[in-house]
Amino acid sequence: AKDNGKAQFAVYDAALERTHEADQKLGAELRHAFDAGQFTLAYQPIVRLPDGLWTGLETLIRWPHPERGFIGPDLFIPIAERTGLIVPLGTWILHTALGQMAAWDAEFGPGVAPRELGVNVSARQLREPGFAGEVREALSFSGVSPDRLVVEVTETAVFDGGVALDTLLEIVKLGVKVALDDFGTGHSSLGLLRTVPANTLKVDKSFVAGIGGASEEAVIATAMIQITDGLHLKAVAEGVETEAQADTLYQLGYRFAQGYHFSRPLPPAEVRSRLTDGELA
Ligand code: C2E
Ligand code: CA
Ligand code: CA
Ligand code: CA
Repeated sequence: AKDNGKAQFAVYDAALERTHEADQKLGAELRHAFDAGQFTLAYQPIVRLPDGLWTGLETLIRWPHPERGFIGPDLFIPIAERTGLIVPLGTWILHTALGQMAAWDAEFGPGVAPRELGVNVSARQLREPGFAGEVREALSFSGVSPDRLVVEVTETAVFDGGVALDTLLEIVKLGVKVALDDFGTGHSSLGLLRTVPANTLKVDKSFVAGIGGASEEAVIATAMIQITDGLHLKAVAEGVETEAQADTLYQLGYRFAQGYHFSRPLPPAEVRSRLTDGELA
């Protein structure tokens, strides 16, 4: 039995090493892709219920890998965090998304382009000294009003330590909004809502997925809208895929949603043509 255990350990170890190697390879490829300008940004509408008109856009990074096809951010963002690439990459994302917003403003007129722009910010970025200053620079460079930028952070990222929270407070002083992403997953504690200067809770799609009937998810989704209403926070339901989910959410009191039922994340050209068609709230 002892030998057997040893053998299993060896197999497990080899698998680990392969993963580590694959990660390192991907890490190097990410660096190369960044230098080669291969990343693009997609924008997913955040809509008003029940009419589905756009109130904002969430920025989502895309990596059209030249040989391996599409690689999702769930796979490469954690690696970019470990290698530190997320720091320059995050700067690029911020500048590009704000620049894009300024371009839509210029084309469609102030108040016609979507009001809010969500940008995901990772724990590593929040711990980087000078991050708040970088946000301020990107805002003034683009000319986009700070109250239109929504920094999306996960509970885990903020929970992670005091520095992240201090940075967040600095960003809020600029007039930028904060959304707690994937709310209800991760290291959540309702107490966090008293310390984190959030304006918005993004209710994780795992609660939305099972929302039909008298499910546990429906009970949780109901409790969350009561909390957000009571604390005067905005709730956005994530991952809405069906009309039935949208209807139920509206009945529960949700007024904002995001998901494939309304729109997939769109390339900028498609956002532009949808704006031309008048999708705005
Ligand atoms: P997230 O911030 O929770 O983003 C929402 C994810 O849900 C996106 O996946 C989006 O495409 C997907 N989604 C939207 N509607 C639906 C739906 O109706 N059903 C389902 N099943 N999924 C839906 P995506 O683009 O693959 O991004 C995954 C995660 O990668 C993001 O989760 C975020 O944590 C991270 N990420 C994406 N872009 C960035 C970025 O620019 N910076 C950083 N730091 N992280 C990013
Ligand atoms: Ca997000
Ligand atoms: Ca989310
Ligand atoms: Ca997520």
